[in-house]
Amino acid sequence: MSNIAIIGGGASGIFAALAAAENEKNAVTIYERGARIGRKILASGNGRCNMTNINAAENNYYGGNTAFIRYAVENFWVNEALDMFSRMGVLYKVEDGGRVYPYSDQASSVLDSLRREIDRRGINVVCGFDVEGIRKANGKFEITPYKGQPVYADKVIIACGGKAAPDLGANGGGYEILKSFGHTVTELHPSLVQLKTYGDTAKKLKGIKINARVTLGKNSEYGEVLFTDYGLSGPAVFSLTSRYNTQKTISLDIMNEYSFSEVADMLKNRRKSFSETNLEDFFTGMLNKRVGQVILKTVIGSPLSRKAGTLTDAEIKKTAAAIKKWEFEITGTMSWNNAQVTKGGARTDEFDPETMESRLARGLYACGEVLDIDGDCGGFNLQWAWSSGYIAGKNA
Ligand SMILES: Cc1cc2nc3c(=O)[nH]c(=O)nc-3n(C[C@H](O)[C@H](O)[C@H](O)COP(=O)(O)OP(=O)(O)OC[C@H]3O[C@@H](n4cnc5c(N)ncnc54)[C@H](O)[C@@H]3O)c2cc1C
Repeated sequence: MSNIAIIGGGASGIFAALAAAENEKNAVTIYERGARIGRKILASGNGRCNMTNINAAENNYYGGNTAFIRYAVENFWVNEALDMFSRMGVLYKVEDGGRVYPYSDQASSVLDSLRREIDRRGINVVCGFDVEGIRKANGKFEITPYKGQPVYADKVIIACGGKAAPDLGANGGGYEILKSFGHTVTELHPSLVQLKTYGDTAKKLKGIKINARVTLGKNSEYGEVLFTDYGLSGPAVFSLTSRYNTQKTISLDIMNEYSFSEVADMLKNRRKSFSETNLEDFFTGMLNKRVGQVILKTVIGSPLSRKAGTLTDAEIKKTAAAIKKWEFEITGTMSWNNAQVTKGGARTDEFDPETMESRLARGLYACGEVLDIDGDCGGFNLQWAWSSGYIAGKNA
């Protein structure tokens, strides 16, 4: 009988436990610091749990060495995870962009099915067990909680998650445990998070949502943008932040369907048709009124009480340019509390991608977000958690 301890009852830890329990010779225990396992699963996908993405591929992932996930992609990936969910009784559906959700539209039905499977496989779950440190002593791992007595195991899987959304359990503790075994942790940044921007332009539009093509560096997405008092949010901005590193600006094309010259021509026609109208109403009927006013004010700088007919050709050109490429200077991201994922983590070259075992400490494994792998928005992060967890559990 081999005792396997899984530290962390999130998506990766639960899949690790289920895989480890496939071998009847293993006694499997999940140690979870929170009062319940799977709290992040419940919150995922706005309570619907975007379980995976049928298009998930290596190029949806980021980290020091994304080739690390190749073995998982080839051996236990979307189909294998979905087969496992089907056997657990989870009926699923595929939506736009390949996003997979439970048919019930309830994240709780995913977690409840996982919990039922944990019970059926006789996996032991110990909640309220916050691991402070782990060390190897006499061939066993000694796992010490902040409060209470240590427990012992033959193999340990670190599935503690990263630093994102600490209210849901993961608080960066997994990195400290891995460091104590000599592992290196790369720089950590919030990902899938809102962006803070310079000045008060976004603040002036707080609460307004528009559709735009958003460009960050070489990447762009079309979708909803939400202006907030700190900067920009909304699905299009949010999902681009998986590719955010040192870019200084983010830009919006708020009339994506039209070319620059078409927009400029429209503005010239309006100047003619509404020459006696104040600039305040120049965009009425064309753009969100407030957005139009703020663009005019920032681009032209003169009072909106001016008549539209006084706009010069140069001002028309500048306004059209701003509509097609409205730039915001990025000053940073919102905090870990707002982020969905951690960019960075334990260096993957210190682990074997075929087993998830540490190359520095035999019998120690890691999976999920604690490793230096993060994915795009759309089911990719949970897929990595299921896959890496399964591989770790199977091999432990
Ligand atoms: C609000 C939100 C919505 C999301 N929606 C989606 C989505 O729809 N689709 C998608 O693919 N991804 C989504 N993600 C990302 C995805 O949920 C995570 O990447 C994934 O859950 C990571 O799994 P994990 O097991 O590595 O870590 P976690 O799920 O964070 O689990 C780690 C667990 O370990 C426990 N733990 C930590 N330290 C210790 C310790 N020292 N001792 C004991 N226990 C410990 C924690 O309490 C936690 O339960 C979302 C994230 C958030 C925050």
